[in-house]
Amino acid sequence: MPNLSPKLRTLVGAARDIATTITARTAVQDDRDARWPEETMRALREARLTALNAPIEVGGHGEGMVGIVAVTEALADESASAALCFAMHCVGTAVIAVRATNAQRERYLVPIASGEHLTSLALSEPGSGAIFFYPETTLEPTATGFRLDGTKSFVTNGSHADSYVISTAAVEVGDELEGVFSCVVVDNDLPGLEWTGQWQGLGMRSNDSRTMRLSGVELPADRLLGARGDQLWYIFEVIAPYFLMAMAGTYLGTAQAALDEARLHVGTRRHGHSGELLGQSSVVSHRLGEMWTRVEATRQLIYAAAAKGDARAPDALTSILGAKSMAADTAVTVANEAMTLCGGSAYRDNSRLARIFRDARASHVMGPTTDMLKTWIGRALLNLPLL
Ligand SMILES: Cc1cc2nc3c(=O)[nH]c(=O)nc-3n(C[C@H](O)[C@H](O)[C@H](O)COP(=O)(O)OP(=O)(O)OC[C@H]3O[C@@H](n4cnc5c(N)ncnc54)[C@H](O)[C@@H]3O)c2cc1C
Repeated sequence: MPNLSPKLRTLVGAARDIATTITARTAVQDDRDARWPEETMRALREARLTALNAPIEVGGHGEGMVGIVAVTEALADESASAALCFAMHCVGTAVIAVRATNAQRERYLVPIASGEHLTSLALSEPGSGAIFFYPETTLEPTATGFRLDGTKSFVTNGSHADSYVISTAAVEVGDELEGVFSCVVVDNDLPGLEWTGQWQGLGMRSNDSRTMRLSGVELPADRLLGARGDQLWYIFEVIAPYFLMAMAGTYLGTAQAALDEARLHVGTRRHGHSGELLGQSSVVSHRLGEMWTRVEATRQLIYAAAAKGDARAPDALTSILGAKSMAADTAVTVANEAMTLCGGSAYRDNSRLARIFRDARASHVMGPTTDMLKTWIGRALLNLPLL
């Protein structure tokens, strides 16, 4: 693991302890039953790891992107779903924190810092799909605040969070705000907010990414994040960097878990007729070496990108885009290679590797998709606008 501050090392150690003692015990059943990782999330709250990205001024740990990468990597070693649930809370926290009013600080950040409040991110919609930054959920001004109407899809943490950061479109027709997008924070218990359907994903089965319906939800005025029309600023300045690094950490941990499974299998499995370990075959050890190199190169890029993000380096965004796209390519490739090396028994038994293999596949479809990221990198190199 790259150089981490002593404080972050302690936090990562605590996350790894939770992953190996609690997540490892519950992950198989959570995956089978498509059940939200309640025990892991409770332990993360009790250990105040959910305060990771909350500002120090409110009692949080004040960590940035290196922190989110290191903790999600540790959690994903045991469950990519649990890492994703934690990640979406951390990204939501970062979004609330960056331009928080005093009222928002008291209502959301103080309880997040004490481990009492879980938040999440609800951007995607059935209409705009992968182009998640063009929401159709409407935000209409009222005498006391706003009225929200729309549908959010794939909301990680489903109904389990206490609040959600939601992207919206303004509805003032003929006004300069027409078509301008804003972000708001919405409490889970507001009348008109409902959950529909069940999450039964191919992989990432224990993250409960459900559909949220918002029907005439009355929102007090102080739930607007930043100013009206700030959504694209939030997307590129906060959501993209934090979300992409959180996903990079999650899929790095997933790739490492696949590599570990392959290493264990080829290092212990002997053929009866020869008594030789699988790893003694030069083809097998060559493949294992390639997998290790891919994972390690990805790790170096991810931590370098996160450090650039925390330092607000001018070229940080390109590295961050590359980090998530490389993490996705690596997770899918290494899980696929590991399945080849672990053979028929791993395939037959819906093994731990089978879960990793299914989880890894979500990396390419979770927005911004890998194709979009690579296109944006190219456009950034050519000094063209990303959108
Ligand atoms: C496990 C999981 C968890 C998720 N959690 C969250 C969450 O917490 N919050 C949230 O807001 N969203 C979340 N999402 C949603 C996700 O980020 C995408 O928005 C969603 O998967 C889009 O799905 P769709 O079927 O509507 O895609 P579609 O829009 O139908 O796109 C299908 C495919 O077409 C291609 N494509 C589409 N448009 C373009 C384009 N312009 N350029 C290149 N290729 C394109 C891509 O390959 C894309 O995968 C989650 C998704 C998954 C799978």
